[in-house]
Amino acid sequence: MKKPRVAIFDFAGCEGCQLQIVNLEEELLQLLEVVDVVEWREGISDQSPEFDIAIVEGAITRPQDVRRLEQIRARAKVLVALGACASHGGVNKLRQRLDLAAAKRIVYGTAAREEFLVSGPVQAVDEVVSIDARVEGCPIDRQELGNVLRTLVLGGEPKVPNYPVCVECKRAGNICRYERGEICLGPVTRGGCGARCPSFGMWCYGCRGSVDEPNIHAARAVMERYGRTVQELEERLALFGSR
Ligand code: SF4
Ligand code: SF4
Ligand code: SF4
Repeated sequence: MKKPRVAIFDFAGCEGCQLQIVNLEEELLQLLEVVDVVEWREGISDQSPEFDIAIVEGAITRPQDVRRLEQIRARAKVLVALGACASHGGVNKLRQRLDLAAAKRIVYGTAAREEFLVSGPVQAVDEVVSIDARVEGCPIDRQELGNVLRTLVLGGEPKVPNYPVCVECKRAGNICRYERGEICLGPVTRGGCGARCPSFGMWCYGCRGSVDEPNIHAARAVMERYGRTVQELEERLALFGSR
């Protein structure tokens, strides 16, 4: 059977999600038994006019990005949004909380030049074109990417967990960060990371975006118990552009 051709593209982001692909190491060799990587600026010098699966990292911030993404979509049978920037806009969306002149001053100071400036709204990939799958996280979980790719190669539809991080956190037996006086986004954030941050002594900062229908009533009860508000949760969820 001919192996599906995979092409990896990047837009606005730190490339940390692509780095996770590099870090797959032995797992990468196993994946290459089921797919051919035909274009990937960060990993190989080849380019290809044709591919079956496009993996897109990063947010869309300029008109030329929109055109490029539309061309990628037109050439791909399947398109995967990779990471928080591609899935939600990610930290790039914080720019939209400022006017452009203020953002320019903060980032570039007196060295700012016109061509440095983003000139369009910051958008997630699925705000511009349709997507077939997403891999959540900032950065992504390497194993999750492997599972998504294998499912796609077999013609399946990858499932994104739709339960909150708290489920995995409770299962791991962690002491809740609220007991330590901290705010944790676990009650409203999509699980699937194994509650990585609370398990390593940090609160969840919501990198996997919100679950589809957050249980606001339950979250409100938790917030009230600890003298916090749901608005504080929502405000913090905005860090990764979660909609
Ligand atoms: S999701 Fe995070 S790690 Fe991935 S490209 Fe964006 S900022 Fe970097
Ligand atoms: S709020 Fe955070 S620390 Fe507490 S159970 Fe949920 S994920 Fe774990
Ligand atoms: S615990 Fe929260 S911030 Fe940490 S990896 Fe999971 S979703 Fe992301």
